[in-house]
Amino acid sequence: MAILIDRDNPRGAAAVSLALHADQWTPIGSAWRIPSRSRSGASYVVTTETCQCADSRFRDQPCAHILAARLVQELRAESYAF
Ligand SMILES: [Zn+2]
Repeated sequence: MAILIDRDNPRGAAAVSLALHADQWTPIGSAWRIPSRSRSGASYVVTTETCQCADSRFRDQPCAHILAARLVQELRAESYAF
């Protein structure tokens, strides 16, 4: 599966920023708990399809957390050091 980051989608850049801090994610089964970048102390349980954040709840498009989870999963599958 190829992950495309659209330069016109601000969530793409946010996803890369989140993925760079994947060492701070807490694995929960096939999901992760990802710290919020905008809300101090907040975090979201995220899979490659679902997320608890408001952006995900109110839009049909994947939020930055979901994109980041997909990106990290793909990088790990390709054995990049993520
Ligand atoms: Zn989210």
